[in-house]
Amino acid sequence: MGLSERQRACLREMDIEVWERRMATAAAPATHPAGTRSASEPAAAAPVEGDHAARVAAMQWDELERAVRTCRRCPLHETRTQAVFGVGNRRAEWMIIGEAPGAEEDRQGEPFVGRAGQLLNAMLTAIGLKREEVYIANILKSRPPGNRDPRPEEEAACRDYLERQIRLVRPRIILAVGRIAAQNLMRVDTPIGKMRGRVYGYQELGTPVVVTYHPAYLLRAPLEKRKAWDDLLLAKSVCAETA
Ligand code: URA
Repeated sequence: MGLSERQRACLREMDIEVWERRMATAAAPATHPAGTRSASEPAAAAPVEGDHAARVAAMQWDELERAVRTCRRCPLHETRTQAVFGVGNRRAEWMIIGEAPGAEEDRQGEPFVGRAGQLLNAMLTAIGLKREEVYIANILKSRPPGNRDPRPEEEAACRDYLERQIRLVRPRIILAVGRIAAQNLMRVDTPIGKMRGRVYGYQELGTPVVVTYHPAYLLRAPLEKRKAWDDLLLAKSVCAETA
């Protein structure tokens, strides 16, 4: 695979010095068939307000975006500057799912535009993707004050929106970045270290889900970038398999 100068620069940003076809020889990841979970993983939380779920499930993009921007289903609407809907190619092959907007995202109304977002962009470029090519969304659409972890009731209030986004985009691969995104998406409480390297299936759609570390964590723990690179290669190979 030929690398552009820009990709090389982004690989350097990720502390990856050479291109290695590591995943080609790596052991095959354990695959969870779509919708299955292991005995140690908890059952899905009961859905909140079935009529809300049904209404959101029928929405097209414009109505969905309006619903998110005006949503008052949890107290975070009182402290946010604005809701952060999602951004990118609505017919993307790759969907990136993070946790929640931070201060910069809350200000700009777009996911992953702060420092973590810059590293995410570099990670995407390193794998040969432009930010505009993928679709990026979060578990929560409103910023939790002080960037605290999302609360279960906030995640539940937002869940229908993300589910609808996933169904509208119908990506070939979902990359869940960070523990909160990964556990929430798959409705498990497995530690992120154990989720990495496996390919999950998203609900009955069966869309492959690959888990990696959150770029904010990678900024604090740069030695883990090598593992994130492996995760990206895994996602890329899974995406290629579904072509
Ligand atoms: N972290 C996230 O998980 N999402 C964002 O949009 C920004 C930072």
